[in-house]
Amino acid sequence: MFYHVKDLQFNARVSKPDPRFARLLLEQFGGPNGELKAAMQYFVQAFSVKNPYPDQYDMLMDIATEEFSHLEIVGATIQMLLDGVNGELKDIADSDEMMTLLGGKSAKEGYIHEAMVNPQFGVLSGGGPRLTDSNGVPWMGSYVNANGDPTVDLRSNIAAESRAKIVYEYLMKFTDDPSVKETLMFLMTREIAHYQMFEAALNKIQPNFPPGIRQGDPRYSNTYFNMSSGTDFKGPWNDGTSTQLGETWQYVADPLAMVEQTNGLIDKDIEGTHRTMESMKEAETKLGEIRSKEIKSSIPDKDIQWSTYGEEKKNDGDKGTLL
Ligand code: MN
Ligand code: MN
Repeated sequence: MFYHVKDLQFNARVSKPDPRFARLLLEQFGGPNGELKAAMQYFVQAFSVKNPYPDQYDMLMDIATEEFSHLEIVGATIQMLLDGVNGELKDIADSDEMMTLLGGKSAKEGYIHEAMVNPQFGVLSGGGPRLTDSNGVPWMGSYVNANGDPTVDLRSNIAAESRAKIVYEYLMKFTDDPSVKETLMFLMTREIAHYQMFEAALNKIQPNFPPGIRQGDPRYSNTYFNMSSGTDFKGPWNDGTSTQLGETWQYVADPLAMVEQTNGLIDKDIEGTHRTMESMKEAETKLGEIRSKEIKSSIPDKDIQWSTYGEEKKNDGDKGTLL
């Protein structure tokens, strides 16, 4: 269950209204790298890990709930940046007298210009945040990545935190308000912290590469195809040892010739690795049994109940340390 506390996690403040920056900040409210995306991603991922990996469930729910708190901070900041917009819209004493009310023709022109630049605030929300990105594109469930495997999901989360971080970094260039900058700095820094939490959680799972269970065909796992002509480069991505499997990169200078000589790669030899087709099958069967057992053994086959109330929670060995 969720229990709402009306105070913000961080003391968000603004020096003065700035509707233009409010629009940019919508990117982190309802945009693809924003706080709702992060909150929903970790929340949705949490369901499938609750029973087999209660420590990961705990972490995902803590971070998801913190992201909801960030969403609240961003929404509150947008609202403060729009202070006055809603009040002016509601002032319908006499719209024909708008020029007078707003203090002359130039003020009216300014007001209309603001509505043109920011139609979402001017003529839709009446001066509050909407669940869209900065261009008014509605928030979408497809922003959320949840693939039911912690070695995949945690990598998605590391990528999501990287993107959220850089968007805050870019946003900070578009405001001079020291109070808004302070809030953005807090939000950006938390993404740096979350990145490392997800990375540590991923490292705790061993083995965690390749993502998922299947091990990959040793004929193709260390082959670098030189698929573009022009200036070619050597680097650790095609020369030396591969980062995770520790195989030797095989640089194929002429992929077309190789494809033709090997019956479309079917007859290609295994090179640069000790892995064989047999060892690959053996490894994935073994890992599949372990992972499947972890999940199956954690779920009763009848009288299924999500929560246990009032029961003493016990620490379960290597499932993390219970606080
Ligand atoms: Mn966040
Ligand atoms: Mn985050």
